[in-house]
Order: sequence, then structure tokens, then C-alpha cells
Amino acid sequence: MSEVRKHYFLDEYCIIAPERGLRPSDFEKRRGERGDGGSAIRVGEEECVFCLGNEAKTPPGTAVYTSDGVVRDEISGVVRDWLVRCFPNRYPVLSPDGCSIDDHLGCGFGFHEVIVETPLHDREPSSFSDDEITRLVGVYKDRYEFYMGVAGVEFVSLFKNHGSSAGASILHSHSQLVALPLVPPRFSLEVDGEECRFCDIITFESGSERLILMRDGWAVFAPYFSRYPFEVWIAPVKHFSDLSGLDDVSSFALVLRDLLSSMRALFGEFSYNYVFFQCNSKEYHLHVKVFPRFSVSAGFEENTGIYINSVAPEDAAAELRGVIRP
Ligand SMILES: [Zn+2]
Ligand SMILES: [Zn+2]
Repeated sequence: MSEVRKHYFLDEYCIIAPERGLRPSDFEKRRGERGDGGSAIRVGEEECVFCLGNEAKTPPGTAVYTSDGVVRDEISGVVRDWLVRCFPNRYPVLSPDGCSIDDHLGCGFGFHEVIVETPLHDREPSSFSDDEITRLVGVYKDRYEFYMGVAGVEFVSLFKNHGSSAGASILHSHSQLVALPLVPPRFSLEVDGEECRFCDIITFESGSERLILMRDGWAVFAPYFSRYPFEVWIAPVKHFSDLSGLDDVSSFALVLRDLLSSMRALFGEFSYNYVFFQCNSKEYHLHVKVFPRFSVSAGFEENTGIYINSVAPEDAAAELRGVIRP
């Protein structure tokens, strides 16, 4: 039986329409059968522009992280022994080029950066070591703070697309950052009111059957309002608004890694996005949403803005609780 659910406090709806008897491992299999899985072009390390040794095939790094520290400007020469490498996207959605100070919207002002998370071609966050994942989250924080300090930048979108169904065109594990000259309107809607709505949501979900993990001040849960199968939110119990308030980088990093590896244990190789929801309004409450990509939005969603989710979040949480490291 289906159920229409309303968002915790926004005027948004989703339909939970469970497909009976479907196992988590069926999702990835079904996606492959439908023909839209595995279509990312698999290239060897020699051809992969993100691989160690191919630095000259991308724009010079804006921040290159090594075991000795960070090189902020690679123009003076390529850094070879990098661990995480950030550089401008060759095909940016926004760019500062040709912008006047008065017209930031009309000229498409902004920045678009690629964060290559590892020099190794076949590693990705679900299998990262403690050091690797902590380093990556440290880089997220560093680049977020850097761009929020750039004149004209109002908002930084930070996200990862992994796998072809999640919109990644290059296999080598990377994240992206887009710095915008405006705060997207949904963030204003989410801080509308005196109290933090997310503090309430976290309290509510912490006592629910949708809680997956509570560790080191981080709540991991499948939200009551879930638009996608196995959608999961990670949020700090303590209120802070963005990555600049993240003091314990490692605790969050390990929670993120362990969630991804538990999904991998359920689904096998799978496509996913994770997205940082944050802004520099102190009323906002940082949270990260993780979306495995099994379904594609189509005509109905486009028409109504209402998403159909074939897995009840209560069932998703039970499956993930069974495999996640406590
Ligand atoms: Zn590569
Ligand atoms: Zn809060």
C-alpha cells in the first residue's frame, strides 16, 4: 500500500510505494538490466586525466595537498606527489572571467572546481582508509572556507557524483565545488522561523525506527520524508551551520565512509551522490544527504514535483543498521 508523506516543514510531498519482496541487491542488478548501468567509459590509467602523472592534462592546481602540506598555486610547476588535487573545471558552469563587480548574475560569475580525491584510479570513499577519508573531508572544509571568503561568492555547493547513474562522466573518484553569487532560495525557506527546524528533526529521528547510527555526535538516519530509495541524512546533533563549524573532522569522515561502505555491502558496486547542505546563516543546520542512484526521475516527478520512492525509509534503515559498523 502506498503512502503520501509531507516534508517535515516544507510544502513538499513524496510517495512511498514499496515494491514487496525486493532485496537491496536487486536494485543494482535491475539497473544493470535496464541498460543504464555501467555505461561510464572505463579508461586505463594512461588515458585518465585525473590519474597521477597526468597533471599536465588538466588546468594547473588551485590547491594541491601533499603529505608535506598544501601548494596553493601550481602555476610555478606541477606537484607530483599529491594526495588530493583541486583545479578549475575545464568546462565550468560559472566562471569569474569577464565579470564586472556590478553584474555578478548576468555574467555568470562563480567558480567551478574539481577535487580529485585520490591519486589512485580505482579507489573511492567507501573503501578509503581512516587517513584518506579524514584528509578528504579536511580538504572539503578548506576549499569551502576559501571560496566563502572570495568577494562576490554567497554560497558554495559541494557534492560528489559517483558512477554513471549519478552523473559522473569520469570514473576516477572526484568531488565538485561550485561557488555561486546567490544563496539558492530553498535555503531561505529552511531557516524561516525562530527555532532551528533541523534540531527538531534530528531529535525526532534519533528516537525513531529510521535511525541507522548515532556515533560521536553524528546522527545517521533514513528521513521520514525520503524521495529516493535508501536516501540517508547525516547530521551533527550539535547545531552548526557549515563546514567552518566542523571541529572534529575525523569523526564525521569515518561516519560518512562507514555509511558508504555499508551501502556497498548491501548493493555491491553502486552509483551515488552525496551533497553538503550548508550555508553561512547561523540559523542553518549543516547536514549531508547521501543518495544511492537506483531510480531515475521521469515524467511524473517533472510534472508534479512529487517523487515516488519504492523503499520505505523504515525498511532502508533496518537493512543499513544490519551491516553498518556500530
Ligand atoms: Zn584515473
Ligand atoms: Zn539546529
